[in-house]
Amino acid sequence: MYVDSAWTEMDSDESVEVIEAATEKKIGSVSLGNARDVDRAVRAARTALDHGAWGRMSRAERAGLMLGFADELEARAEETATLVSRQNGTPIALSREANGTGPAATLRMYAGLAAEADTEEVRASPNGATIVRREPVGVVGAITPWNYPQTLAVMKIAPALAMGCTVVLKPSPETSLDAFVFGEAAAAAGIPQGVINIVPGSRDTGANLVSHPLVDKIAFTGSTAAGRAIGAECGRLIRPCTLELGGKSASIVLEDADLDVFAAGLGESSFRNNGQTCALQTRILAPRSRYDEVVDVVADFAGKLVLGDPLDPSVTCGPMVSAAHRARVLAHIDGARARGVRLVTGGGRPEDQEHGWFVEPTVFVDVANSDPIAREEVFGPVVAVIPYDDDDDAVGIANDSDYGLGGSVWTSDEARGLEIARRVRTGTIGINHYTLDLGSPFGGMKDSGLGRELGPEALDAYTEYKSVYASARRLS
Ligand code: NAD
Repeated sequence: MYVDSAWTEMDSDESVEVIEAATEKKIGSVSLGNARDVDRAVRAARTALDHGAWGRMSRAERAGLMLGFADELEARAEETATLVSRQNGTPIALSREANGTGPAATLRMYAGLAAEADTEEVRASPNGATIVRREPVGVVGAITPWNYPQTLAVMKIAPALAMGCTVVLKPSPETSLDAFVFGEAAAAAGIPQGVINIVPGSRDTGANLVSHPLVDKIAFTGSTAAGRAIGAECGRLIRPCTLELGGKSASIVLEDADLDVFAAGLGESSFRNNGQTCALQTRILAPRSRYDEVVDVVADFAGKLVLGDPLDPSVTCGPMVSAAHRARVLAHIDGARARGVRLVTGGGRPEDQEHGWFVEPTVFVDVANSDPIAREEVFGPVVAVIPYDDDDDAVGIANDSDYGLGGSVWTSDEARGLEIARRVRTGTIGINHYTLDLGSPFGGMKDSGLGRELGPEALDAYTEYKSVYASARRLS
């Protein structure tokens, strides 16, 4: 593990193999940190915060170090992107952006915000003046999943560093090999000792981090089930947390939609990263007047996805991250088939892939929004097409979900699209495309989470406000 700017032996003697998703071959192994390993990392982060150079630095100095950190990550981008794709199956072109250059861009954005923001604001008050201070929330425990391991870690590390916090990162066991690039890059950039610490491990390692008494805040991305457990523990401890969880978002295709535009956006909006993306619109709501056309577009798109080794740039759909995850995805598909939900393409394992945890891109149609395939997150290349009558019906179906994370509206009339977008209970929604914007808040409503990442708004989650009643006017 990486603690106090040094690579160090772990106390734990437990480890797991890391298996390449497309070949099923072992490419490494990672230790699973125990409570003592977590304790050492948290204490390093605590000391760096309370007594280290980091806490005394100006924002401008911190911003300068963050820019250097971004450069070091970018210098390793190709290697990191390849390593992630081998572990989790992300097609390489996407991985280059999401795990290569994207994290550096996020760090640079927060370096800019760190340099600009004022730590203290003086406000007039009835008694004279109050100084409103923005102080770092403290030691941040960051827990990440395997689908976009670099992006999702930086979405926590960057605002934390911008506010002067220190971090202990607990990556997912499936994608721990790439996490160590943060240690290498931080060391090369001269990020002070103890500011970034990395402890690989299982959910128990994560649970130890969540409940450690010297941690001040938890930033979690992962499943709704784990988020509930973490949120409950943080509630017990009165410990702030941000939770970025699952989704089952809706694409609303209006009857005036340009279906060429819809087809061009489908890869991003409904199948990104082999369907292993939290904000995907895996419910496609089609107007009855154009239902067959929409079904044809979706089935055609799914049928043309190219399965294979994610390192091959012509491949547009890689394998699932693990054998266990493929089994979960197939169980969702088998369940829907057993209930008689109509399938128009896919529906199982591809016959032409000898190795790797592949699932055929799968499209179910005529789906009732009450069916589990329309309600449960599958996290694979599986979509459900649902017919609707009119705009109110479409909005009603979109909102009839436990989740509220992503969404999209497809229309030739942008103003009408915006009207519909305003009515959907979701954290993010696109009109005629769905692409993340680093400069705006990202997160979910309902079971999709608590709080927001990205944008300047994310800094609030790493801030404690302190009001200093500076000059009291004597009343006597
Ligand atoms: P997961 O919840 O199983 O694990 C995520 C991380 O949390 C891992 O590091 C894991 O070891 C750790 N963990 C699990 N249980 C824990 C616990 N009780 N206490 C502490 N740590 C714990 O999720 P996963 O299978 O790795 O990822 C897939 C899920 O992540 C999907 O549901 C997906 O929607 C969600 N996700 C959400 C977003 C978002 O921004 N909303 C982004 C990506 C993925």
